[in-house]
Amino acid sequence: MIRRLIKAVGQLVVPGVRSPGRRGKTEPEVYTAEDLGIDLDRISSAAHKTIRGLQEAGYAAYIVGGGVRDLLLDLRPKDFDVATDATPQEVQRVFRRARIIGRRFQIVHVTFGQEIIEVSTFRALQSTPQKTDDHGRVLSDNVFGEQHEDAARRDFTVNALYLDPTDGVVLDYHRGVRDLRSRVLRMIGDPASRYREDPVRMLRVVRFMAKLDFQAESKTMAPIRGLGPLLSNVPQARLFDEMGKLLMSGASRRGLELLMSLDLHHQCLPLVQMALEPEGTKEEKAQALAFVHRALSDTDLRIAEGRKASPSFLYACLLWHPVLRAWRANEAQGERPIPALHSAIDEVVEARLTELGLQRRTASDVRELWQLQPRFERRGGSLAARLLEHERFKAAYDFLLLRAESGEAPRDLADWWTAYFEGDDEARAELVAGLSRSQAGESKPRRRRRRRSPSE
Ligand code: ATP
Ligand code: MG
Repeated sequence: MIRRLIKAVGQLVVPGVRSPGRRGKTEPEVYTAEDLGIDLDRISSAAHKTIRGLQEAGYAAYIVGGGVRDLLLDLRPKDFDVATDATPQEVQRVFRRARIIGRRFQIVHVTFGQEIIEVSTFRALQSTPQKTDDHGRVLSDNVFGEQHEDAARRDFTVNALYLDPTDGVVLDYHRGVRDLRSRVLRMIGDPASRYREDPVRMLRVVRFMAKLDFQAESKTMAPIRGLGPLLSNVPQARLFDEMGKLLMSGASRRGLELLMSLDLHHQCLPLVQMALEPEGTKEEKAQALAFVHRALSDTDLRIAEGRKASPSFLYACLLWHPVLRAWRANEAQGERPIPALHSAIDEVVEARLTELGLQRRTASDVRELWQLQPRFERRGGSLAARLLEHERFKAAYDFLLLRAESGEAPRDLADWWTAYFEGDDEARAELVAGLSRSQAGESKPRRRRRRRSPSE
């Protein structure tokens, strides 16, 4: 153990290897995993195998990033990332199933069964200017370096901890353990320059503050307000990816509130802005916001309880009120309810897929969820039974419940469906019979045409 530790640490203090420019601390503080209370059994076997494979081939290999951070916080890590001094090609040679991906930032995906471990090579702090865009955003980034340089290039101190599970040690170059204990998010280096290099780091501040319930240190926080517009230079796919992580972080509600308070929501994705700043009358706005807030809280709760939370369900929620408004407008112009809904979806979503950043598959899931909504109103005969059998029934029903909770769909309609969903055959038959007694002809479309909206 000690020999490898010296190998890992010793090489870093040789005079002359320090990089010019933004210099990382070259000697780490070393903790034992035991002292930090890390339960090594919580590391996935794929991560263990990756580390072992690289070490046995003579390379240094550590778990880094969120995996270590979350283990230290006693949270279940989402995944494990590995950092090594082997080049991507060398990593590929060690494993049977390994694929080099990415161009700007090459990494290797090592696959064991269902699990993929992302392996990245220590990145150098470069003295020569890197390739950047006109705003200072780094475009090319494949010069490899020492571990301490790699540490200095990570975003926050708590994300720059390296865990060697074989030796049971944690290397800390930036006092990440101290920050983690005081629940502080601190950018490594000069925060403003780091946001310029990669504006997505501003969204990462928001995500980690929300998800980990950390405070951002004042210097980390201060430049964000002025630099928000830089996000408009970031490729949409990357923004969408990062926003997806925020929405699925289990703290989406707090995250979006923070995003708004930092005035970043205008720059990140149109759909976030559409959701957070709805259009319409005062009442419509209040109702739309209530719906979005409930959807976010509901998603957070599901994640906290380990239940399934689907991104397309949440996107359907975020865009529902803009679609609803367009639907109502189309109906007001004389279109019949169902075609009016279809054209509303076309206008709001289909025509703007790229701008919204939705993948076609997500968009079609979202569309299906919306198109099932008017079907909840038609319950006569065998219609309710047929809807219950639909494969997306449960998601569409959950969506209806959220609508009812925010006061947009009738409460008694949602209650009826709850009774129907939970009831046995006899109870269901009784519910349908009760319907024809009290609302004869409800399923006839002609009556619905007179309404402004099927949900009113
Ligand atoms: P999560 O739990 O969401 O996976 P994470 O911290 O592991 O959180 P990843 O996006 O998986 O986040 O990134 C892994 C690690 O890579 C980070 O912990 C950080 O050290 C580094 N990293 C990721 N993105 C950046 C960035 N934009 N700038 C600097 N370092 C980054
Ligand atoms: Mg990660």
